Formats: sequence, structure tokens, C-alpha cells
Amino acid sequence: MLAAELRLHDVRVLVLEEKTEPASAVRIVGLHIRSLELMAMRGLLDRILPHGRKRPAGAYFAAIPKPAPEGLDSRYAYLLGIPQPVIERLLEEHATELGAQVRRGCAVTGLAQDDEGVTVELADGEQLRSRYLVGCDGGRSTVRKLLGVGFPGEPARTESLMGEMEVGVPQEEIAATVAEIRETQQRFWLRPAGVGVYSVLVPAVGVSDRTEPPTLEDFKQQLRAVAGTDFGVHSPRWLSRFGDATRLAERYRVGRVLLAGDAAHIHPPIGGQGLNLGVQDAINLGWKLAARIRGWAPETLLDTYQAERRPVAEEVLDNTRAQTELLSTEPGAQAVRRLFTALMEFDEVNRHLLEKITAIGVRYDFGAGPELLGRRLPDLDVKQGNLYGLLHRGRGLLLDRTERLTVGGWSDRVDYLADPTAALDVACVLLRPDGHVAWIGDDQRELDDNLSRWFGEPAR
Ligand SMILES: Cc1cc2nc3c(=O)[nH]c(=O)nc-3n(C[C@H](O)[C@H](O)[C@H](O)COP(=O)(O)OP(=O)(O)OC[C@H]3O[C@@H](n4cnc5c(N)ncnc54)[C@H](O)[C@@H]3O)c2cc1C
Repeated sequence: MLAAELRLHDVRVLVLEEKTEPASAVRIVGLHIRSLELMAMRGLLDRILPHGRKRPAGAYFAAIPKPAPEGLDSRYAYLLGIPQPVIERLLEEHATELGAQVRRGCAVTGLAQDDEGVTVELADGEQLRSRYLVGCDGGRSTVRKLLGVGFPGEPARTESLMGEMEVGVPQEEIAATVAEIRETQQRFWLRPAGVGVYSVLVPAVGVSDRTEPPTLEDFKQQLRAVAGTDFGVHSPRWLSRFGDATRLAERYRVGRVLLAGDAAHIHPPIGGQGLNLGVQDAINLGWKLAARIRGWAPETLLDTYQAERRPVAEEVLDNTRAQTELLSTEPGAQAVRRLFTALMEFDEVNRHLLEKITAIGVRYDFGAGPELLGRRLPDLDVKQGNLYGLLHRGRGLLLDRTERLTVGGWSDRVDYLADPTAALDVACVLLRPDGHVAWIGDDQRELDDNLSRWFGEPAR
């Protein structure tokens, strides 16, 4: 996602990926509302939709079965179920079509930075030079460790095995046993995941070697422990192991090196937010880093990445901590879960939680101002179609209902749309390339100050 964002601004990008083949572990529940909006903003949604399944937006907070509140303020108010390898492939295709280079089988093992750039060392000793480096290298990030950036938080309390495989017993036999176990064991499932293939989740209790990938035998043992039978599982498609560690990088940037995605934050998968959060990091960072490289970034723009995104991650970590407690089978936690379930009957409570999980409630701190300042603008109808259709190129946009203002010397970075009919109850909004509202008003001088604040000096 980040590579594609940078390419929109003609920045040369090289993606270094340690693995020689794309990952096959399915993992994610799907894309939540804000990520779907971002995909629509970049013209990617039409490419993604045929590969996913639309599901209702609600019922993702601690798996409490409450439907989403009515009237969500989004054109994309659903969850798109889509396997992680598919979304990764589609994003890679998008980035390479835009001109990003991807080199597989290249593990970063060292880095050094100076005033002009970063030198990266690969496992085979090759050295590469770039102006900036972004560590999008996952929870065990080598880049983060090489920077010496702390990753404080809580270690995993529980670990689970997850995989896809075939089973040797009839479906009816499975269904009855599984339903019975699910009543007491939250971290267990055995459910169809395609023709003849089942997805399996079991606790990893006693599977001690964390450095080695789990084996089919590990799954069989755990199934026997939980269900009294291993269901004759065989022919695994992929097997993986994950924990519920919760950690946040102390800094997102050290000089010319930045962190994004799981390299900056990890948390339990409950609520299905990790990949979504990383995609949103990328959309926040892309245009800022590009602006820096193209030479028009205001001095502090790159620092706003951490200032804006770290608090969002902090909140996600907290909501996954809360959800983890609500999933405990302890009597106290179960009582809190019942109370929570009752509270979610209140529309405002339900809405608040859904806005957290789906990230449509994110508000960046741009200083004092109207409620909309710092928030995303939904995909409004505008006279040229829909608003997000005008944001595909990753540029700023002035939406002007007064038809009096101008983006003047910033027109190489910011588009202008005069539309008195736009469904807004304010005169004008300035949108950043990530779709967040950077300014609201009707005064040209104030607008110019804000254009400078976000988009640097005007062209002469
Ligand atoms: C069981 C499970 C379910 C989940 N469900 C959801 C969900 O429903 N929704 C959701 O949003 N998220 C979910 N997540 C979280 C999601 O999978 C992660 O947040 C996401 O994969 C993070 O993406 P990333 O690109 O930051 O890191 P990763 O996916 O970890 O990718 C990092 C990449 O960097 C490469 N790499 C690592 N080190 C190096 C190096 N030194 N040199 C070069 N390359 C390197 C790795 O090979 C890897 O390809 C789930 C996670 C788990 C475990």
C-alpha cells in the first residue's frame, strides 16, 4: 500500500521482501469500513470486491452478536471478508502497475543512516542506498531492532495454532462435537473453508518450540486434547502459530527511517484490526514522505505521521485488551460481558464501539476547530459523481461551495472542486490526500495559511 502511495507521486520505490514466495496463511476476517473507503479513494475497490464477501458491519466487538447501528455515515458500511494472501496479491499488483519494484528473497540485516540517506545491507552482503527507509517488516521487525527503538507492552498470555487441512470424518460428526466444545472453549474452531478444506484453530498449550513452524502432529495432539479426537486431519494447506502479545513502538521515526504496520504495533487479532491499521498507516505516511522527497513538504510534516498514527494504534491496543478480557471464561469477566452486551443495546454505545473497530471514528488533532476538523469526510455525492472518485491520484482537494476561493500556487498538489450543491453543512473544506479534513472555512487568507501548513510553499 505504501509503495503504491509513493508511486502516485512519482517516487522511486523498492520493496525488499525476505520470503521468496507470497505467504499462504489466510488470517484476516476482512477489511473494515475505513479501509474500504481508502480503497475506494484510490480506485481499488472495484478490483478487490469480486474477491471478497460482503458481510454485515456489526458484531465484531469481542464477538458480541449485536448488529451495526442504523444509518452509518458511509457508502461502504459493511465488512468485506477477504483472505490476507488475496489482499496482499492485489495490493502488490497495484503497486507494481504503478511502477514499484518488488525484490523477493532479500532479507534486510543491517542499516546505517547519515544526513543524505540510508544504507541497507542484505543477508548476502549486498548494500543498497536510498533516501528513506520504511520498516514494514512485521511484529519481529529487524528494522525496528536495528534502530534500537523499544517495543514495550505485554508478552503473549496465550498462543494458538491456526491452519487449513482436510478431515477424515463426515461433516455431521464434526458439527455436533464442535458445537459442544465451542460452549466452553473460546479458542477453538473447526469449520469449512472451501471445498473439502477446514480451518482449524486450537490453543498451543504445550507446543513449546516457538522458533519452528507448527506441524500437523502438533495440531492432532491439540485437537485430541480439546475434542478427544483429531478428526483424522491430514493434507495441510498451511499451518501457523500466533499469540496475543500487545506492544507499541516507542517511536515511529528515527531520522530517515520510519516504521509502519505490525513493525510499529502488535495486538491480539480479535476484532480483525491489524492489517487495517497498517493500511491506514500507509495512507497517512505515503503522501508525507513523498512530499519530503519531492521537496515541497513543510518542515514538520513528516513528524505528524507519528503524532497522528501512534495515538490511533494506542487506542486499538487498548480496545483489543478490553476485548480479550471480555472473552475470558472467568465468572467476573463473563459478568462484565453480560453488562457490556446489555449496554450495547444503547445505540450510542454500539456506534462508539463500531466506530473504533472500523476506524471511521478516528479524529486527528489538528488544533481547535469544528467537530469535522481532523476527521475523514465520507464519500459525498458531488456534481462530478462521488467525492472519493476525485481522490484517486493521492492529491489534496479543496471542495468549495462558495465558488469564490482558489488553490492558486498549490494547484500542482491540490485539486479544486467548486460545487455549491455538495452535501456539506460548511462552506469549504480542504482535504488532505488521506481524506482527512485539514481546514474548514470561507476565507481565502486563512485557506492560504492552511495550504502552506499542509502543502508547503506555493509554486511561483
Ligand atoms: C490469526 C490472525 C488473524 C488476523 N486477523 C486479522 C483481521 O481479521 N484483520 C486485520 O486487519 N488483521 C488481522 N490480523 C493481523 C494481520 O495479519 C497483521 O496485522 C498484518 O499481516 C500486518 O501486516 P504487515 O505488512 O505490517 O506485517 P507482516 O504481514 O508481518 O509482513 C511483514 C513482511 O516483512 C517481511 N520481512 C520480515 N523481516 C524482513 C527482513 N528483515 N527483510 C525483508 N523482509 C522482511 C516478512 O517476510 C513479511 O512478508 C490477524 C493476524 C493473525 C495472526
